[in-house]
Amino acid sequence: MSAQAAERAGDLRLAQEQLEQAARACEAGGRGARAEQLRRHARRLAETLPGDTRKPFPERVPVLADAGQAAWCSFCCRPGQEVGSLVAGPAGAYICRGCVQRALSLLGRGAGGG
Ligand SMILES: [Zn+2]
Repeated sequence: MSAQAAERAGDLRLAQEQLEQAARACEAGGRGARAEQLRRHARRLAETLPGDTRKPFPERVPVLADAGQAAWCSFCCRPGQEVGSLVAGPAGAYICRGCVQRALSLLGRGAGGG
C-alpha cells in the first residue's frame, strides 16, 4: 500500500511510515530536499487530524517488524528479505540482527545495566 493509499484509507500511522521509508530512500539516492518534503508532509498528516485518537507513533519501544512489510535495515541498508527479521523503532527506523550484534559490541554487552 502506498502512503497516498494509506492516507486515503485513514491509516495515518501507515501513511507516515511509508513516507518515512520513502524519505530514507530519497536520502540514500542523494535527494535530501525531496526527503525533507516527504517528512514535512508526514508531520502535516499528524496535525490535520487533531481529534484523531490514533497517535502516529504510539510505541516508544522496539517491536518486531511485520514480516510482510517491505522494509530494510536503517543501519546497513539491506532489505529484510536479505537480512531476515527486522526490529522496528518508533520513528520508522529498522535494525537487523547483524547490526544489533555490532551495536552491542560497540556499547559493550551489559554496559549501563540490563
Ligand atoms: Zn543492518
